[in-house]
Amino acid sequence: MKVDAFGLSDVGRCRVTNEDNFFYDTGIGLFAVADGMGGHAAGEVASQLAVDALVETIRDSDDDLADQGHVVARLKEAVREANRRIWASIETNEERRGMGTTLVALVTLNEHAIIGHVGDSRAYRLRDGRLEQLTADHSWVFEQVKAGLLSRDDAKNHPMRNIVTRALGSQTDVTVDLSEQEAVPGDLFLLCSDGLNAMLSDEEIQSMLQEHRDDPEAACHALVEAANERGGEDNTTVIVLRVLANGA
Ligand code: CA
Repeated sequence: MKVDAFGLSDVGRCRVTNEDNFFYDTGIGLFAVADGMGGHAAGEVASQLAVDALVETIRDSDDDLADQGHVVARLKEAVREANRRIWASIETNEERRGMGTTLVALVTLNEHAIIGHVGDSRAYRLRDGRLEQLTADHSWVFEQVKAGLLSRDDAKNHPMRNIVTRALGSQTDVTVDLSEQEAVPGDLFLLCSDGLNAMLSDEEIQSMLQEHRDDPEAACHALVEAANERGGEDNTTVIVLRVLANGA
């Protein structure tokens, strides 16, 4: 698959540090956003460990990465490896106890985007002007929304909106949600930390992506600036990729 991509991370207007990390490389077709948590600067350690483990595991793979089944298995293994490294780091550093991170990763292959995630960082696809969330947040409020107990709007302002129900670093192993999404020329994929979707509605994200659909860099700047204008309460990280051509 041939894609054009850009990524951007911003500390926002309220936080002193940026605990998000991201990575993208259109050559190997790998894109990732991690949103760290935990005091004493441990959040940024966790998100960096996660991104590094992911990239190394995918890049150094001996598997045939032209095979979709292998890529899905490798992505799952890479996220589990990220979890193991964070867990090991906590076990040997008392001050890192309680650190963790989300991770959303996307691998492009032929006609597909293969997505793995843990936590509440999201993947979206914009197709024909319509935005669709491709990941289900591992968060308390999202689970209430899925169960029909809370509306999406109420979830945004709920006092428990920051409670993540699954993260890297909280247990010895982690369950990774994986999906294989079709990608056709003209599609945009967006990966983001919750600093974006906490400040902006899906409708706003949709219209900004649509407006800048030919320019991932302009789209990233517009999204981050809008999140900051709305208050910038959290770190905001975005990666936008545009599918130029699919196929091997
Ligand atoms: Ca966050």
